[in-house]
Amino acid sequence: MGYREIIMGKQKRIALVAHDNKKQELLEWAKFNKGTLANHILYATGTTGDIIERELGLKVIKFYSGPLGGDQQIGAKIAEGEIDFLIFFWDPLKPLPHDPDVKALLRIAVVWNIPIASNRATADFIISSPLMNTEYVRLVPDYQGYIHRKINL
Ligand code: PGA
Repeated sequence: MGYREIIMGKQKRIALVAHDNKKQELLEWAKFNKGTLANHILYATGTTGDIIERELGLKVIKFYSGPLGGDQQIGAKIAEGEIDFLIFFWDPLKPLPHDPDVKALLRIAVVWNIPIASNRATADFIISSPLMNTEYVRLVPDYQGYIHRKINL
């Protein structure tokens, strides 16, 4: 399978999501990195977005709350090429009603080869990467072969 090049601009479109037990951690991380985050376009699930807007005073484009479809909305935006970064602090110690949506979101982020941080250490490394401030050519598998696969009817 070949690759397609997708250009990520200097200004990244970053989705922020945190499960309830991880919201405090995401907030602390976001506060520490407010200066950097302010240079990018922020998206979030409903409650996470409310907290970031209120506590940091940054504009956030908000979707529904995760369990009400927000994770899926973010997944759809990733597939449509409108979000190119996912910071998702999910809770490894608690089953949640929308676990299938969480899995789907993580899966679609891998399908489109976008950076994912599932915990604070990864988020630290990602946000301090020099690539945050430059254009980046993201290689996405060329799914044409899959799209045009032969179906025996
Ligand atoms: P929330 O959703 O930001 O609306 O709480 C997060 C999630 O549980 O996916």
